[in-house]
Amino acid sequence: CGIVGYVGSQSALDVVLAGLKRLEYRGYDSAGVAVVADGSLASRKKAGKLVNLEKELVDRPLPAGPAGIGHTRWATHGGPTDTNAHPHLDNAGRVAVVHNGIIENFAPLRAELAERGHDLTSETDTEVVAHLLAEEYAGDLAAAMRRVCRRLEGAFTLVAVHADAPDVVVGARRNSPLVVGVGEGEAFLASDVAAFIAHTRSAIELGQDQVVELRRDGVVVTDFDGRAADVRHYHVDWDASA
Ligand code: GLU
Repeated sequence: CGIVGYVGSQSALDVVLAGLKRLEYRGYDSAGVAVVADGSLASRKKAGKLVNLEKELVDRPLPAGPAGIGHTRWATHGGPTDTNAHPHLDNAGRVAVVHNGIIENFAPLRAELAERGHDLTSETDTEVVAHLLAEEYAGDLAAAMRRVCRRLEGAFTLVAVHADAPDVVVGARRNSPLVVGVGEGEAFLASDVAAFIAHTRSAIELGQDQVVELRRDGVVVTDFDGRAADVRHYHVDWDASA
């Protein structure tokens, strides 16, 4: 339903939580966040309203970290439980992914992953993506995302972080909106500009079947085959207080 990603010198956790609040109006049944800090990745997620997640974060705090992702879920596959909430992680806990939309071919992918020894613990269509990214990752998260996206059918926005890539957030879209916000030494990703206009008005609308790599010093957009894509910058001029 709602997606936020951030990389920069602010606390990724704070930016992501504030962004999720700006997206609450869309409606959702669960919420979660993941943060990369000091070579490791940590995640918290809860069924119910954002206040449940915030309470969990008081009981079990997360580090601030330079990179993070967040999600508010509107369940399509699997009920609104803590386990089915996003982010979803691979078995080693090195990669985390959030997803809007539906991955139509998740069942065969799930069976294939189970055969290769992966232990999938949720009922979602999303979880396969975390496991596929872990398999494909060889030092370049955007490249891994492109390879995974070529195998997916359906409509999706995906945003991922990896413990080995502390200054990178990667996003992808097919038939689902995803907007990039470009700041000074920081960058944002969201399903709706409302999530980041408090920080920057410089935006890029990601095109169909594109992958974006966010770093503190800029963004790189390609198609699913890795070819550089035309990037359309625009200025968001709607009123933040509206
Ligand atoms: N299909 C995914 C799920 O059920 C994502 C739903 C959403 O867009 O929030 O977990």
